[in-house]
Amino acid sequence: MPDANDTTNLLNFIVDRAYVGIFVINQKREILLWNQFMEIHSERKADTVVGQNLFEAFPELPQKWLDRKIENIFILKNFSFTSWEQRPYLFKFAHNRPVTGGVDCMRQDCTLMPIKDDCGEVQYVCFTLFDATDTSIYQSKLEKTTEKLRELSNRDGLTQLFNRRYTEEALEKEFSRARRYNNELSVILTDIDFFKKVNDRHGHLAGDEVLRVISQRLASGLRGTDILGRYGGEEFLVVLPETGSQGAQVLAERLRKVVQANPIKVEGESLTINISLGVTELRSNTAAYAQLIAEADLGLYQSKENGRNCTTLFQPGL
Ligand code: GH3
Ligand code: MG
Ligand code: MG
Repeated sequence: MPDANDTTNLLNFIVDRAYVGIFVINQKREILLWNQFMEIHSERKADTVVGQNLFEAFPELPQKWLDRKIENIFILKNFSFTSWEQRPYLFKFAHNRPVTGGVDCMRQDCTLMPIKDDCGEVQYVCFTLFDATDTSIYQSKLEKTTEKLRELSNRDGLTQLFNRRYTEEALEKEFSRARRYNNELSVILTDIDFFKKVNDRHGHLAGDEVLRVISQRLASGLRGTDILGRYGGEEFLVVLPETGSQGAQVLAERLRKVVQANPIKVEGESLTINISLGVTELRSNTAAYAQLIAEADLGLYQSKENGRNCTTLFQPGL
């Protein structure tokens, strides 16, 4: 068993060398103890700060907020914590991680612990500072990965357009918004004409390439607020917020022309690809977003019946 003196020395040694910031202040906010971690990271030796007022020695500290927190410990006699997620750091310390981590300075979890005398009155407050930089870097990497996965899960792998689920969800949201604010809303459904022939003559891979080119052309013909998704194999759904049927028809015609404008090179052959389109708009009696798709589909069917490579506006009774 070490004697009392040894134990005190041992404890002093541990407090000084622990890889945790430890410092103690009294009620006047004077620093009484400043361990090695604090010395290294603040670049201030203990003998230059001990005896000084905490806020005078470190004017960059958030004084108003921290002083109230310290005062509460003297009054309420309870522990207090701050997490890097609420307040990234107390002291602006450099960290030794690569800059690629994306964190500018050391993130800190802090504990403020009351130290009481025999009568139970708080005499001192002991601060501990844990370096939470690694946790914050992992968390921000995780958030970025989650965001990337979410983005990927909304996309169609072949064309990189939004997939059917995402496009329908977007339409559902736009449907509710248009109803609430009494805005216009239109939908275009389009299908490539005689696409089976492309596959039959040139093979499925060539067909895939044609799908990619057409997807890019459709995207290039739209505005930033329009939502374009791959609805089926070679069918595309376009959601046009704040657009009436007239504007939607103009846009549909623009898409039709942009697709057929330049022949697509496949196996040395130039293919002119046409699309047929169906257009509809939100009306007062439109029951649900799915009705818009059904109506655009009827318009599209009519375009196919009319000889393809054209646009049909859905009319009730079509
Ligand atoms: P229509 O003018 O009546 O639309 O004639 P179509 O030949 O285009 O007929 P339909 O729309 O029914 O045919 C769709 C074809 O698209 C069938 C399928 O082989 C092809 N297809 C669907 N998805 C893909 C895909 O991801 N890649 C390729 N290469 N072909 C696909
Ligand atoms: Mg087709
Ligand atoms: Mg089809």
